[in-house]
Amino acid sequence: MLPSGFEGSGPVFATALPVVDRPSPNHGPRVGGDAVEMVLLHYTDMESMAAAADRLTDPAAEVSAHYLVDEDGTIHRLVPEGRRAWHAGHACWGGLRDVNSRSIGIEIVNPGHSCGYRPFPAVQMDAVTALCIDIVVRHGIDPRAVLGHSDVAPQRKRDPGELFDWAALAAAGLGLWPRHGFDPEAAAAHAPAMAPGMAGPAVLDLQFALDGIGYEVEGNGLYDPSLAAVVTAFQRHFRPALCDGTADPETLGLVYEILAVAQGPRPPMPAGPRDLTGTAGGA
Ligand SMILES: [Zn+2]
Repeated sequence: MLPSGFEGSGPVFATALPVVDRPSPNHGPRVGGDAVEMVLLHYTDMESMAAAADRLTDPAAEVSAHYLVDEDGTIHRLVPEGRRAWHAGHACWGGLRDVNSRSIGIEIVNPGHSCGYRPFPAVQMDAVTALCIDIVVRHGIDPRAVLGHSDVAPQRKRDPGELFDWAALAAAGLGLWPRHGFDPEAAAAHAPAMAPGMAGPAVLDLQFALDGIGYEVEGNGLYDPSLAAVVTAFQRHFRPALCDGTADPETLGLVYEILAVAQGPRPPMPAGPRDLTGTAGGA
């Protein structure tokens, strides 16, 4: 049975996790079928949970996500998983441009860089992790395809940002992450550092590597502001201590390590606490 407010909105791929339903009218049909290939993480970038919930359910705002996770770990369900929520905007990953049609969007309550960015509480991270595992397993998504908004829209977006605990997700078997024991400094010992303003074959190599991971990068051999934005997005995700858009040796080492992970064998499905009875419930 469909949750109240979700009637007539197509098949629901329902989670068995405890959720609070707060239906948003802001969704449409997935274009090109129901397949979900990606989980996309955001922060709300607003002062409060209430303000974010109001905006994500306001028809005039024309934005939404499938889920909204409060700082206390409460998961709010806004849009049925079978529908196309409006969270990614102009975005691209691995050549895929209609990210909304192929993804499930999770908004994570945090004031963001606009309103007083702060760490994500452990209880909130636990809820996000459990929800991601649940979605990845039910939809059969490649566990590496849990990404941030800044990964798919590096020229425009900073969320969920450098305070998001990607390492915690990786510990649960989710997302792209360096292999155990990887030493980025040793890996990049012979790599020349590159900075905005440079040009040449080494810059082109970096562009190809970032493209191979999935980022949208122009292959022009120029370390222009566009490439610096992509490097900054990479750093927010994989080297949050310094996000300056400069391809220093540690960043370069990580780029080639993540490239190897991204193009390597698909990892096993994450294990985790879940109690699921099937796939496509409802309808
Ligand atoms: Zn976002």
